[in-house]
Amino acid sequence: MSNPRLRRRVQYSATLVASALLLASCQNPANQEDKDEASATPTTTSSSTSAEKTSEASSTASSSSSATSSSSASSSATSSSTKSSSSHAKQRSEIEGHVVVLSTGGTIASTHDDKGAVVPTVKGSDLVDPLYSEFDKDKLELEVKDIANLDSSAMTLADTDKIITAVHEQLQRNDVDGVIVTHGTDSMEETAIALDTFHDSDKPVVLTGAMRPFDDDDPDGPENLATAVETVTNPDYAGHGAFIAFDGKVIPARGAFKSDTEKADGFATNSQEKFPERPEPLKYAPLGDVRVDIIAAYPGAPADLIEQSLAKGAQAIVIEGMGSGNIGPDLANAAMEAAKSVPVVLTTRVDHGPVEGIYGGAGGGATLADAGVIPSGNLRAPQARILLAAAVATGTDAQKLFSPAG
Ligand code: ASP
Repeated sequence: MSNPRLRRRVQYSATLVASALLLASCQNPANQEDKDEASATPTTTSSSTSAEKTSEASSTASSSSSATSSSSASSSATSSSTKSSSSHAKQRSEIEGHVVVLSTGGTIASTHDDKGAVVPTVKGSDLVDPLYSEFDKDKLELEVKDIANLDSSAMTLADTDKIITAVHEQLQRNDVDGVIVTHGTDSMEETAIALDTFHDSDKPVVLTGAMRPFDDDDPDGPENLATAVETVTNPDYAGHGAFIAFDGKVIPARGAFKSDTEKADGFATNSQEKFPERPEPLKYAPLGDVRVDIIAAYPGAPADLIEQSLAKGAQAIVIEGMGSGNIGPDLANAAMEAAKSVPVVLTTRVDHGPVEGIYGGAGGGATLADAGVIPSGNLRAPQARILLAAAVATGTDAQKLFSPAG
């Protein structure tokens, strides 16, 4: 098959068929061992056992707060995850290690204000203390550092820099086995891929958060944090970068996205693998001064969206196209012109599947790829933007961050 794009598509389809077969075999109890080994994404974790565990941890958390009704933030959130054990899963009370928990805010650290709105107010130590109802303090040290108390939709790349720097500082300590970052869910996928891109340690970094606030009658934060502890102390995850642990699932940073505004099962992945192939980690350079814009390529979107973005100082551009990565002719002309001077990545507004340049025509993905526009593979606009910021900040060829893994 001579057309490389077509070949990639066939390979991708073959991967999907293989994944479907794998999933089918995982559902057969006789293949339980295969499930533990190959574990289709997102992986489930934990020795966690049950709803009792959730409510046990939750009630401890609630008791230290002024529980109010679960009105504003996701009151109808439900957990739909299934649990399984990884080859290294241990009972929580058996887990050992020294983990640093960096608290940055988000719903997990939020309470209702006097108007009933949810705002971050809670310190990291209040998030961690309830965990000792299940984990053994003599075996597991959870060292807490408060580094921000933000709603993650308010974060800037300067805040991302602060988190990356804090994580690196902790990972360099010989006495620390891994780092957990508690974080708002709105931009967790951005911080996760930023950490992953600069992650040059074998020790895991795991992000978690919550869909229901700390003072909810049934907060999901305590159980999510417990899952993060299980993940960060599990040697299976060592050497594979950053993960999101959420609602009993463990999702690799690359390809993760927030998939529900309300449900406890709030994250999904567009990665095809438990441990997606990652580019070589970049040597950290601050992202705070870099400007990368995301442009939504709705049908009929005009060229000046890109022209104005460049005029305002964008150093790279992400275009969120349609379907498998296609845009209208006007915007396409501007995109191809822009690609002569700055990195331009094409992604899609569709949640799942690859973007790799299939269609011809004025704004088809294949036409754009031929003109130097980089297809985003499995990544979507928020994560593509972070990779472009990292490429600009470090002087890296952006293409290297998107391929071959996507
Ligand atoms: N707005 C919140 C945040 O991202 C949402 C959450 O944490 O679930 O900080």
